[in-house]
This record gives sequence, C-alpha cells and structure tokens, in this order.
Amino acid sequence: MHEMSLAEEILRIADEAAAGAGAREVQRVRVGVGWLLQVEAESLAFYLGAMRQDYPRLAAAAFTLEEEAVRVRCRVCGQETVQEGWGFSCGACGARDVAVVAGDRLEVQDMEVLTDDV
Ligand SMILES: [Zn+2]
Repeated sequence: MHEMSLAEEILRIADEAAAGAGAREVQRVRVGVGWLLQVEAESLAFYLGAMRQDYPRLAAAAFTLEEEAVRVRCRVCGQETVQEGWGFSCGACGARDVAVVAGDRLEVQDMEVLTDDV
C-alpha cells in the first residue's frame, strides 16, 4: 500500500510538471526514490503502470526509478556525507548529531515531453 500512495504522488508531481511545461504527452520520466522510503521497485513500477491511465498526459510514459542514497549534514563539523544502512553518523568526524538532507523523498529528476507545435 505504501508503494501505491507513492505511485500516486509521482504521477501527480509529473502531471503538474508536464502541465507547467505545456506538454501534450510525456514520454519518459526519471524518478529519484530515496533509500529511506524503503520502496519495492517492482511494486512501485506496477502501480505506476496501472494508475498512469488516470492521467491522459502520462498514459504512455515510461518511468525509470533510481534509488537515491541517503546524505546527512553534520551539525558538529558541517560536512555532508553519504550513508549506507541505518544508524546515521557523520562520515567525516563520526558525530551522531546529523540531519538527513537527501534520500528521504521522491523527486522527479527529468522528463521527456512532447508539446504542441504552435
Ligand atoms: Zn561531522
């Protein structure tokens, strides 16, 4: 069910972006999926395929999912480092006082669209 609501969010964001760009049809969408979301890519792809019909602009779109690593910013030394696995700590100084700055969200990174020639 987690994947279903994420698919809905991706479609909504992509459709809004397509509308903003004056697109008639979206051909390809690249989506960054944060590692923290713990998404099952297969399941997410399934829901995207099933639900894109509700968005005429996206009905033929191909979705590419790319996992995004978690990055944290250290509140002690200010460095940003990439994390692997749970138990986040600063990769530079080892402090545990860190804030997640990437890898905790969905992001439409890139889109190929067709627009009406005027
Ligand atoms: Zn640090």
